Amino acid sequence: MYKHIEVPEKGQPIKIKKKKLVVPNRPIIPVIEGDGIGRDIMKATRRVVDAAVEKAYKGRKRIAWMDVYAGEEAFARYKEWLPDETVAAIKKHYVALKGPLTTPVGGGFRSLNVSLRQIMNLYACVRPVRWFKGVGSPVTHPQKLNVVIFRENTEDVYAGIEWKKGSKDVKKVINWLNKNMKVDIRKDSGIGVKPISVGGTKRLVRKAIQYAIDRKLPSVTLVHKGNIMKYTEGAFRDWGYALAKSEFRKKIVTEDELWDKYKGKMPKGKILIKDRIADSMFQQVLLRPSEYSVLATPNLNGDYLSDACAAQVGGLGMAAGANIGDYIGLFEATHGTAPKYADKDVINPGSLILSAVMMLDYLGWGKAAELVEKAIQKTISKKTVTYDLHRQMKGAKKVGTSQYATNIIKNM
Ligand code: NAP
Repeated sequence: MYKHIEVPEKGQPIKIKKKKLVVPNRPIIPVIEGDGIGRDIMKATRRVVDAAVEKAYKGRKRIAWMDVYAGEEAFARYKEWLPDETVAAIKKHYVALKGPLTTPVGGGFRSLNVSLRQIMNLYACVRPVRWFKGVGSPVTHPQKLNVVIFRENTEDVYAGIEWKKGSKDVKKVINWLNKNMKVDIRKDSGIGVKPISVGGTKRLVRKAIQYAIDRKLPSVTLVHKGNIMKYTEGAFRDWGYALAKSEFRKKIVTEDELWDKYKGKMPKGKILIKDRIADSMFQQVLLRPSEYSVLATPNLNGDYLSDACAAQVGGLGMAAGANIGDYIGLFEATHGTAPKYADKDVINPGSLILSAVMMLDYLGWGKAAELVEKAIQKTISKKTVTYDLHRQMKGAKKVGTSQYATNIIKNM
């Protein structure tokens, strides 16, 4: 029993059997509308998804959306920003869709987005980045970039273990390190800690390789700065290769093996496991994008890289994302609440719609996912787009959020 959440009568929960999601024909999907433009883009997204599911499965399948609350909506109802029952509902139903949430400014308030990821142990941030024909881009051949970034979501300098310059704690840490570890850290430093574990690395790389296998993708690249940070990022690379060899031996070839055993000719049906130093990777996605497919990265590299890649294909309005754990998938727009556009019906719902496409795929409803993707392409090709794409495209017609969604539905 929930306090404010109404469970849809006709829906059924997704279950886990034999380590796999079992999705009924009317799965209950919790949805956090989100703050600011969340209200505009979630409405549009639900309409598009419902239309695609209806068209693909002719009424046999339908999503039973279940509103759950976080952010401003939650505060209004519960006087809490992230109520326990919201987390419980997502955990129980495994797959959820989420709009952006405001991080209230104030002492010690943790981002709701980060909290959701941590509480539910959603250790992989998955971001596919590919170009839709016709979208303006700062590069000459945006079509050559088609990657899926698997960013580790829980460790690294991002774990939030840090001490402020001048604080009592930082003094303790610096003194201890200088004395016991024979290092020479300046007294006026702030300190952050960068933990990268073998367990955290392996579960992320496992997901990335499995994703490549399931979709018959050509390669997985481990992106690290291991030449300098040997025991964290270097270890990420080593543990990644070790996992690939121990768990996927028959399905993979490493780059060394490619040259030593196969004279540089990739054997059919295998996935190439390679690694690149992070700084070089930023050049590679610009200079040789077509050589990359799935990228597996520690937290910070992945954060930078996914935005850099998104910029190459048209920016935030087109960047889909999901946070995934062992079973739970929280699919969300990668941008924020853009308050200046809220409730104006102007913003691009593309990021959330594409995240919902990932969600449909995750449910195993690939036919509906494909319908939406193709319809987005058709809508962009017809040059009826929201303001953000309009300003990058010659001869386009500007439409609002809801009209854009209607056009996508018409173009299915
Ligand atoms: P933002 O909301 O992402 O907006 C920054 C700019 O990005 C917008 O002004 C707009 O640029 C562009 N943009 C954002 N969404 C777009 C879309 N759907 N289509 C096209 N362009 C889009 O970032 P912010 O203003 O820094 O953050 C506002 C609030 O969001 C903060 O409270 C922050 O904590 C929160 N936030 C939440 C999440 C999340 O929930 N995952 C993520 C990031 C930030 P133009 O004006 O140039 O068109």
